[in-house]
Amino acid sequence: MSSTDWARQALQAFDAVVQASDGFCSRPGQRLMAEQVARTFSSATLGKAQEGEDQAAPTRCIAVIQAGTGVGKSLAYCAPAIALALARGTRVLISTATVALQEQLVDKDLPALAARLPQPFKFVLAKGRGRYVCKLKLGRLAGTGQADEAQDDLLANEADEADEAGDRADRARRPRHETEARIRWYEAMAQNLEQGAWDGDRDSLDTPPAPEVWGPVAAEGASCSGKYCPAFEQCSYYDKRRALVGAQVIVANHDLLLSSLGARLLPELDNCLLVLDEAHHLPATALERFACSMDLSRLAWIERLASHSLRIGELLQVPEIAGIPRYAAQLRQQLQDLARSVMQLYGAELGSHEDSGGPARVRLPGGRLPEPLVAPLGLLLGSADGFLQALHATAKALRTQMREQPGQARRLSMLYAQIGMQAPRLEALHATARLLLQDATEGQVPAAKWFTLAPDGDRRVLQAHASPILPGAMLRNLWSTVRAAVLTSATLTSCGQFDFFLHETGLQDDAAASTLEVPSPFDYTAQGRLIVAETRADPKNAAQFTAEMVAALLHDMARVKYGALVLFTSREQMRQAVAALPTALHSVVLVQNTLPRAQLLGRHAERVAQGQPSVIFGMQSFGEGLDLPGRLCESVFITKLPFASPDDPVGQARAEWLRSMGRDPFSELVVPATAIRLAQWAGRAIRTERDQAHVYCYDKRLTRTSYGQRLLKGLPPFALEQRAPLSGGATAPGAGQAR
Ligand code: SF4
Repeated sequence: MSSTDWARQALQAFDAVVQASDGFCSRPGQRLMAEQVARTFSSATLGKAQEGEDQAAPTRCIAVIQAGTGVGKSLAYCAPAIALALARGTRVLISTATVALQEQLVDKDLPALAARLPQPFKFVLAKGRGRYVCKLKLGRLAGTGQADEAQDDLLANEADEADEAGDRADRARRPRHETEARIRWYEAMAQNLEQGAWDGDRDSLDTPPAPEVWGPVAAEGASCSGKYCPAFEQCSYYDKRRALVGAQVIVANHDLLLSSLGARLLPELDNCLLVLDEAHHLPATALERFACSMDLSRLAWIERLASHSLRIGELLQVPEIAGIPRYAAQLRQQLQDLARSVMQLYGAELGSHEDSGGPARVRLPGGRLPEPLVAPLGLLLGSADGFLQALHATAKALRTQMREQPGQARRLSMLYAQIGMQAPRLEALHATARLLLQDATEGQVPAAKWFTLAPDGDRRVLQAHASPILPGAMLRNLWSTVRAAVLTSATLTSCGQFDFFLHETGLQDDAAASTLEVPSPFDYTAQGRLIVAETRADPKNAAQFTAEMVAALLHDMARVKYGALVLFTSREQMRQAVAALPTALHSVVLVQNTLPRAQLLGRHAERVAQGQPSVIFGMQSFGEGLDLPGRLCESVFITKLPFASPDDPVGQARAEWLRSMGRDPFSELVVPATAIRLAQWAGRAIRTERDQAHVYCYDKRLTRTSYGQRLLKGLPPFALEQRAPLSGGATAPGAGQAR
């Protein structure tokens, strides 16, 4: 069948699904998007060319589609993509950024589609393996596993991993009743798992366990012996993985997608149809994946890893372990030397920032490593390298033993887990040292490099960090494999252009990439009003501005009849607004983090349903993904333009690099990134064709600066109103009774 026929068939499937929907109404934008999806997924060549087939370079097709709110993008990509996948005998991989969208797809959109498409298809949710329990480790900690001669305490090992308790003295400080409570929890979970009352998925527990409780039993890859494990056949994680094989549609997330490249966990990217929803998050996810850090203060794990691997290596007669005592001793010494050198160089500067609230931080300008740190880091890298090689040899010997002695599988798998728990630290140390040593020679992009000093109980913890600064370069591996992809979100353009997103994702020069902007069906001019409520104070003057802004906000909030959302750019700003709330508003406001998110939203919906006013106070995470239609959100208050934190060392390093090339980071980086965030925030206001809402922005720079005008271009075309500063310092009714 030709690609045109495939595309036509896929669109027919889409049309049939739309017409069969309750309350069917034609949405031209949705159809336009579906056409582009069908064209993209039908034109790309998938899989390896068979003998006798055209061996010419395969056709790649990547569509970048901005679909405004209300377009109905999930259906616009799901229906044609799934119809095409079924026709082409391939699979659809949908990657999202948030759990909320994953749940919406798996619990709502895909079941509805499955009921309407004539051909049956299976869909499944793919999550990172750390979300599942390791039956083997759980059994051991619950006391149901067989004890072996290894006396190591898994609980202590993994607790160190999770909360960096660091040494035995710290463990000794943990109250006995806490340890007993943990063991009881493990026992209950092991029993539930055994009896089928729990599927081993952390997310299906009513109360999510604390990280230090979950960490020791998570099915992490480094501690898993896979098919050699005696619990392999009943393993929750592998159970879910097996379900992936039979599914035609897999819903994953960006982090899992990037971490699985080349791992054969998800469908092969040259032989599937890839949809990246919430694609505006992809660049940040890529940077996070490649950022690394190492601890220069808490070093107890080195001895633990050395003694585990030595004992296991001796047991298996692995010759490579001979160097382990030397590598471990050197590593400890070299980390201590490095820490001393860092403190000699930067101690005063770090000390002067220690009261800033977060960890004190010093960034290395231009990513240049000072001379006194080069040699110690080089030695450190050498020791880490030697240690890692010995570790790999031991792990390999363990796998061989497991294969040859299936009767010993449980004992050997536990030994494998013991090494695997600490090995990621050594790998992180190795990666960090390598990136810190990376020299930005002519034309190369420097890495961001920085040190932090933070209090931890009665001591201070020094850490070294490094991160690449260009996400597009990190995504090259992805694009080199992908044949057919659709990237979509309501906010891919910034200031009305796709350029920033294309650069961030590394697609700017990719001939296979095309863009399409599908406007929202909403009549924003008639449905919404953007009020730029000016203050006398300059927004750059944080103290004066926040005081005036809070007074104006309280004045405007007094008019809220039903639901509203206030978005703050910092915790401190939100704290000040909460502190200034008059008594009358205490029962109206719901503050982020004072309740679990779902509970907070539930209470908000209850109040609005009862005809009461309810105002949510939140920060960035409430600025996107929240769907509050109708009365649930009649006003959005944006307290200040949401610029990224100026303290972000990766952003600083990138800005510095752009400046060194004669470029303007504010115009090239800061404004476009802010435009996307602002569009997301403002996008909370109008969610349906019937909504009427006001968006207040208290930052006069939006209309009074040239970059503000650029930001405005990226917002929906609301009716615009500029409001002069309120006279005489506005106060909310009852503000005199503020706490
Ligand atoms: S297969 Fe891996 S994750 Fe599963 S129980 Fe065994 S060791 Fe744990």
